[in-house]
Amino acid sequence: MNWHLHFLGVGAAHAVELGSSAVVLERDGEPLLLIDCGPDTLDRYMAAYGAPPRAVFITHTHMDHVAGLERLFFKLWFDERLRGTTKFFVHAALLPWLQMRVADYPGALAEGGVNYWEAFRLLPCTRGFWLDGLWFDVVATRHHVPGTSYGIALAGCFAYTGDTRPIPEILGQYAGGQELIAHDCSLMGNPSHTGIDDIEREYDQSLRSRLLLYHYGSAADGAALAARGYRIAETDGRVALPEPGAPRPDAG
Ligand SMILES: [Zn+2]
Repeated sequence: MNWHLHFLGVGAAHAVELGSSAVVLERDGEPLLLIDCGPDTLDRYMAAYGAPPRAVFITHTHMDHVAGLERLFFKLWFDERLRGTTKFFVHAALLPWLQMRVADYPGALAEGGVNYWEAFRLLPCTRGFWLDGLWFDVVATRHHVPGTSYGIALAGCFAYTGDTRPIPEILGQYAGGQELIAHDCSLMGNPSHTGIDDIEREYDQSLRSRLLLYHYGSAADGAALAARGYRIAETDGRVALPEPGAPRPDAG
């Protein structure tokens, strides 16, 4: 089997030209899991795969990560083969926010008669979740209010931080082996996001060598990060991953 991360977008919220940050885990060229669904993500996903996602994980509820969920509802609801079947993984602590921001708007359909979540197969999680026999760890990150942002990791294969400040302890525990680590990073950090100086202060060389930086502020910022010796993700780029290892001993 071969495994890839396909970056549908790599931009910070204001870097619309780079696409909203979102990624697809592919197994043997087939999409297994979409991570995040910003305003442009569904179009990019449909262009790549020709059908809506069958499994989605949401890192947090800022609009550049969830604004595409209304359209995804329509796509799934109006396809009777897909209706109610797409697995929707979200940390239980995010459900109240997602409900307020996306699901609770009056009238999921103008005609009435349907609730937002009926289009999906909602699977709240806390420590992680199973998908196709694989255990995905879900880990709290540092992005605004504690408990409102989560990264995801597949042992031996990859970690994807979502938006975050540096999280060395978390990555040491959940991506301490050969995993590729897709990490929020721009040239300048701020109270919500990681900057390159944060990366160099917080992570040792062995971890830095496994980083793939995304969520940067512009193409020029990406080029500047690359010039400093870092690997950067590019819009519509695919990155090969190591084979997943056995599930963690405390999985499930
Ligand atoms: Zn955010």
